[in-house]
Amino acid sequence: MQVLILGSGVIGTSVAYYLARAGHEVTVLERQPAPALETSFGNAGEVSPGYSAPWAGPGVPVKAIKWMLMQHSPLVVKPMLDPAMWRWGLSMLRNCTQARYELNKGRMVRLAEYSRDCLKALRADTGIRYDERMQGTLQLFRTQQQLDGTSKDVEVLKASGVPYQVLDRDGCLPYEPALAAVKEKFVGGLRLPGDETGDCFKFTQALAKLAEAAGVTFRFGVNIQAIEHDAAKGVTAVRTDKGSFTADRYVVALGSYSPALVKPLGIDLPVYPVKGFSITVPITDAGGAPESTVMDETFKVAVTRLGDRIRVGGTAQLSGFDLALNPRRRDTLEHVVTDLFPRGGNVRDASFWTGLRPMTPDGTPVIGATRIPNLMLSTGHGTLGWTMAAGTGRVMADLIGGKAPEIDMEGLTVARYGG
Ligand SMILES: Cc1cc2nc3c(=O)[nH]c(=O)nc-3n(C[C@H](O)[C@H](O)[C@H](O)COP(=O)(O)OP(=O)(O)OC[C@H]3O[C@@H](n4cnc5c(N)ncnc54)[C@H](O)[C@@H]3O)c2cc1C
Repeated sequence: MQVLILGSGVIGTSVAYYLARAGHEVTVLERQPAPALETSFGNAGEVSPGYSAPWAGPGVPVKAIKWMLMQHSPLVVKPMLDPAMWRWGLSMLRNCTQARYELNKGRMVRLAEYSRDCLKALRADTGIRYDERMQGTLQLFRTQQQLDGTSKDVEVLKASGVPYQVLDRDGCLPYEPALAAVKEKFVGGLRLPGDETGDCFKFTQALAKLAEAAGVTFRFGVNIQAIEHDAAKGVTAVRTDKGSFTADRYVVALGSYSPALVKPLGIDLPVYPVKGFSITVPITDAGGAPESTVMDETFKVAVTRLGDRIRVGGTAQLSGFDLALNPRRRDTLEHVVTDLFPRGGNVRDASFWTGLRPMTPDGTPVIGATRIPNLMLSTGHGTLGWTMAAGTGRVMADLIGGKAPEIDMEGLTVARYGG
């Protein structure tokens, strides 16, 4: 079957790879000159099924107000006259009940755990390298209240069968020895030994090469302008600045830019850009750098070892599609990494980056079929697109190939939004 994939972030590229391996004829359209140059470029590097949970949860509205008042705030909302933002925000608030949280988390964990298994199999099949490490992740608590507050998370982890360790201060040190120098700054942590880390950009670039070798055609520098359709035939072509492209099936994997292109087709996709920032710091003293990911619970900032670099990522900012690099967000990231790993690297030599997480109000991505038989979606992966990429690729290839996916698709498609 001929399949046209729109977008070559980690999601579109993963879908392309699995489709090609299943024997389909695949073309990928991407406006950038290479894969993974937008949101998949500089993320925090966690492949973390253990932390797969929606941001919308009980108590979050109150916490959000506190966060916004902090000096190094993890949440920034720029009040704008953007109806999509307000609609998205209200829908997110409606997801802040215990019942919705459990339902949404269950859906996310289902895909994230499957994705980790797919990534393992992919590594074994291809030997793909991306500064990967399999040393778990450590959520670090600066206050006793945070440590005591883990009991609810632990219940959820137990119920989902996710391995975990609750550690006191000294218990964290064998996993992150550099923290010994700043022991007085934290009281303990929650470790998820099954989580992994790695550079999403390197992964996507390497996977694109493997996909190309399996027959995928990448068309870079192509700006997609519209998806043409008619009532009888469904999608008939994709119009771009380099002409029109046709196929038997079309997969939209345009991250935060997906809703605008499917709206004229009558699909109301509640995916909104949630801006995040990262800095990448060259390591100057490996003994003073993290071993894996340390997630600072107070500032919601993840500090991850990626080869000879430290990636520091965080902040959720609602400000539309603006990609300005705000120096105040950089200050927060620098503050966390120098506070916890003062000897690890020199922040003055860091590069600063921003990306737009394609977020749904319920945290769960939107993958699979739509009402239009030849149009599929693969977007809305929000905070966990890197974690869920391999599984998404595999599920999409199975669906397009007419095979039942290995996981239940309940709650993962746009049907939950009436689309
Ligand atoms: C600060 C930060 C930290 C993060 N940390 C993590 C983490 O630790 N773990 C994790 O799992 N996830 C993390 N994420 C989330 C993860 O990065 C995203 O979910 C993921 O990258 C989304 O991938 P995507 O392929 O859907 O989108 P993208 O990577 O944005 O890909 C979409 C592609 O579509 C292309 N495109 C868009 N419009 C057009 C058009 N009109 N014509 C042609 N091409 C177009 C774009 O150029 C882009 O390449 C983080 C995100 C941020 C911002």
